[in-house]
Amino acid sequence: MSETTLVLIKPGGVKRNLIGEITRRIEQRGLNVVGLKLMRAPRELVEAHYAEHQGKGFFEDVVNYLCSGPVVAMAIQGPNAVKAIRTMMGATNPIEATPGSVRGDFALSIDDNLTHSSSDPEAAANELALWFPEGIVS
Ligand code: ATP
Ligand code: MG
Repeated sequence: MSETTLVLIKPGGVKRNLIGEITRRIEQRGLNVVGLKLMRAPRELVEAHYAEHQGKGFFEDVVNYLCSGPVVAMAIQGPNAVKAIRTMMGATNPIEATPGSVRGDFALSIDDNLTHSSSDPEAAANELALWFPEGIVS
């Protein structure tokens, strides 16, 4: 079933010039880019994005990290896109991420794990509404 999911290339990924590499992998897989922008994320947007983690010890750090520089927001569409993308990005903690995944190939620290991707279709719909209020191109 065709799904649309949100991918963020976090500030660490942009700083390390991984925009092309990550986008190339997504396109090479056969998934379609239907929304794409480089932006500095407003704090309110990032707090809403990570609302599920409010109150946890790492909440402030993860919000600060997302606000520390430009991010790329992408809407990605294709068959089972939510799960396909999560698997391609790898486990949250890069030490546990499979080699061949983005985190398994390019990251070592949970504080700088390079990308975000929506965890399920419901989260994807909510996150796409937050990051692409203007809608996507399809
Ligand atoms: P993301 O939502 O960024 O794609 P994820 O879905 O793999 O990552 P979440 O559980 O949603 O993981 O955590 C959101 C982010 O918060 C993680 O990407 C990570 O940077 C940070 N984080 C999560 N758990 C921890 C932890 N135990 N210690 C420190 N940071 C954490
Ligand atoms: Mg998450």
